Amino acid sequence: MPITPLMPVYPRCGVRPVRGEGCYLIGEQGERYLDFASGIAVNALGHGHPKLVKAIADQAATLMHVSNLYGSPQGEHFAQRLVDASFADTVFFTNSGAEAVECAIKTARRYHYANGNPQRHTLITFDTAFHGRTLGTISATNQAKMRDGFEPLLPGFAYAQFNDLEGALALIDENTAGFLVEPIQGEGGIRPATDEFLQGLRKACDEHGLLLVLDEVQAGYGRTGKLFAHELYGVTPDIIAVAKGIGGGFPLGACLATEEAARGMVIGTHGSTYGGNPLAMAAGEAVLDVILEPGFLDHVTAMGERLRSGLEQMLPNHDHLFDSVRGKGLMLGIKLKSDSRRFVAHCRDNHGLLTVAAGENVVRILPPLVIDESHIAECIEKLSEAARVYVPASDD
Ligand SMILES: *Cc1c(COP(=O)(O)O)cnc(C)c1O
Repeated sequence: MPITPLMPVYPRCGVRPVRGEGCYLIGEQGERYLDFASGIAVNALGHGHPKLVKAIADQAATLMHVSNLYGSPQGEHFAQRLVDASFADTVFFTNSGAEAVECAIKTARRYHYANGNPQRHTLITFDTAFHGRTLGTISATNQAKMRDGFEPLLPGFAYAQFNDLEGALALIDENTAGFLVEPIQGEGGIRPATDEFLQGLRKACDEHGLLLVLDEVQAGYGRTGKLFAHELYGVTPDIIAVAKGIGGGFPLGACLATEEAARGMVIGTHGSTYGGNPLAMAAGEAVLDVILEPGFLDHVTAMGERLRSGLEQMLPNHDHLFDSVRGKGLMLGIKLKSDSRRFVAHCRDNHGLLTVAAGENVVRILPPLVIDESHIAECIEKLSEAARVYVPASDD
């Protein structure tokens, strides 16, 4: 195979979108797709949301980028709003999820260093976790498919089973800095943490002086019906990484921390050329304006319940294919009894429905948060029809 101009690291499918309209994507030949993938939980406001489009256009014409060497009225304003809406006291802006997690890892290590405990550098992470593709973030998962060939990786991670509290606590030693965990694993297959697991990690952090670091890159920012997923668990973290939905499609991420957890992050310890530039801040403010509108998060919760019950009603009609529904809010997954990648391709190519495959043979359903009941009905209709005519491969 000759090399392609785009480095061939993605198994790209035949859908080649050129335009988006609300909850739909339109391909090169004018074909329409119901987009229940949302760029993997990114397009929280769907495509072409007028407020987001206008905010970006206006800011691009006013001031797109300046260095972080200068004062940032735009960054200060947006960060203050995030602080007011969360557990956090301070924010570092990034351009992606992996960078937000990197900042979270650095903040956690630096906290113990600032406290005179530099040996406390190990974060306990979890099997089938996904934290991004930088060397640091692939070191924070034990998934071989992301790590193979990239060794030597970053030391300072230990791996426990997700939702196994005892196993995680057993790994705590004199080098432990804290836990790094997704409240709901996305790539791993829409696996929500149990209440007792997340609450147990919090309790262990309090007892041992450790930090609870949450990766809310996929589960956060309104997707579960709360601004942040940890609110569903009654757990307050020390540090979280956010991205995906926060920019609604504009590349933006953030690391949020309490004053205490961020105590090591002083002048010169971290940086980013683009991070938090005025254009990104304008996009972030526009998305947050919409998400914090009264009733918006309740709408997400209501649509999540509606979609879930629609899926649950459909399941028994296709017993050969569907196993169960899981997830929270509009971060839902259907566990299949056979290969989910093949079924996702079938829905996409033959029924105009976009979803995303994940671990454990799960089909991820991640619609824009602005869907209404008509989109849910259309999704269920397409899924039912797709399931009715689908023949799993004999070797699935
Ligand atoms: C997508 C994702 C990331 C990585 O985000 P990028 O923007 O691709 O770097 C990290 N953590 C979780 C949970 C994610 O879903």
